Amino acid sequence: MVKICGIGAGYVGGPTMAVIALKCPEIEVTVVDISHSRIAAWNSDHLPIYEPGLEQVVQQCRNKNLFFSTDVEKHVAEADIIFVSVNTPTKSRGLGAGKAADLTYWEGAARVIAEMSKSNKIVIEKSTVPVRTAEAIERILTHNSNGVSFQILSNPEFLSEGTAIEDLLNPDRVLIGGRQTPEGLLAIQTVKDIYAHWLPEDRIITTNLWSAELAKLADNAFLAQRISSINAMSALCEATGAEVSEVSHALSKNSKLGPRFLNASVGFGGSCFQKDILNLVYISESNGLTEVANYWKQVIQMNDYQKDRFVKRVISSMFNTVSGKKIAILGFAFKKDTSDTRKTPSIDVCKGLMGDDAYLTIYDPRVSEDQIRRDLSLNSTVEWDHPIHLQPTISPSTMKQVRIVKDAYEATKDAHGICILTEWDEFKSLDYQRIFDNMQKPAFVFDGRNILNVGRLREIGFIVYSIGKPLDP
Ligand code: NAD
Repeated sequence: MVKICGIGAGYVGGPTMAVIALKCPEIEVTVVDISHSRIAAWNSDHLPIYEPGLEQVVQQCRNKNLFFSTDVEKHVAEADIIFVSVNTPTKSRGLGAGKAADLTYWEGAARVIAEMSKSNKIVIEKSTVPVRTAEAIERILTHNSNGVSFQILSNPEFLSEGTAIEDLLNPDRVLIGGRQTPEGLLAIQTVKDIYAHWLPEDRIITTNLWSAELAKLADNAFLAQRISSINAMSALCEATGAEVSEVSHALSKNSKLGPRFLNASVGFGGSCFQKDILNLVYISESNGLTEVANYWKQVIQMNDYQKDRFVKRVISSMFNTVSGKKIAILGFAFKKDTSDTRKTPSIDVCKGLMGDDAYLTIYDPRVSEDQIRRDLSLNSTVEWDHPIHLQPTISPSTMKQVRIVKDAYEATKDAHGICILTEWDEFKSLDYQRIFDNMQKPAFVFDGRNILNVGRLREIGFIVYSIGKPLDP
């Protein structure tokens, strides 16, 4: 029986290995992680991440041909094929801090593979890594003293959180890069055969190693660039009376552009876009390509501008201060259908509003209270003790500033304004008349995702700001 070991049981490693187990019942797949709590969660009824359809896939395969374990060394030693899906965050210290990828976790995994391997193995980069990382990994692995040979492949993951299972079952394409040597080509074919269990051959693209590594960075950079482009248009729309949704619609009908990634918003988030573009900036600078680096930097600067612009719009609309006002935050995850909050724009927006001494009640259907507290650097469990009527003289430092609640109606009760920060479907069908009746007046809505019916809200009596739309009817 072929044995696969997946190192890293996160948002990528968990779902990808589960789908391989589902589609290849003759392969034994073990996902390993150094985090005991994560593995315990994968082995329980409460998976560590939320993805539609994931629970069913795991339930179907777990303890049949899909296993989760903390025994990294054992399963690395036994595997024929190793997928490495460890985190590759931005370096926080030292050379390249703030831009370069931190490959500490990858290096740790590679050293375990080098040490534990007693048979030949295919080692696959599933994590997103800087172009030419495979060269460095090869150097670590060749120090293995057991006469073992390794083939390194790049098989970057293109899934999107929130649709991970659907994306894995039915991807646009799978990319496999490897050395163009007989051994490299054989390894590529072996991995191709795994995906061929459920994908037609024309969806599987094979390339050299460096093209596959760079293609993943390019992919994220292009997607983020598209969001920043439409967000740039949204600012122009607000200044000119154009409507960004109408502009997007017109663009989407151009078959050369297509309809996706054209929604203006409060900004992109997630663990990947920013870090991968920063990585691209660093690689460009390291290769002396300053203009290329500057080009990609603009995508991030536009995103920061968009978040900042939103906060300023909220404050300026509410009579130039939100001090002492209660603002309901609907949505904290970086997008709908995920519990992930990494780099969510909600963090910057909440901190921006807290910086102007607003009182926040936050509701997200999937994000835990603990997670929100960590993201906003709130230490203790606090109770809401702000008198609802406006008292600007109250010193905010003596007040509890944030409350996290369990539903949208509770969050919006007695609020002066509402910020929609995640496009959760349930926010589209709330009873906004009931919400309006229970809010302070004038009641504001700031739709950071353009999901609400502005006309209907204005009929009810709300003052509405929706990204990229005229302020007045
Ligand atoms: P994650 O933080 O959710 O998961 C990474 C896991 O690796 C963690 O559980 C961590 O404990 C584990 N780990 C780290 N070092 C280890 C080691 N030496 N041995 C065993 N386990 C180890 O990260 P993620 O979101 O799954 O992302 C993983 C990689 O995939 C990143 O490079 C990311 O850029 C890339 N990627 C992410 C997405 C996404 O949507 N999240 C999509 C495509 C690609």
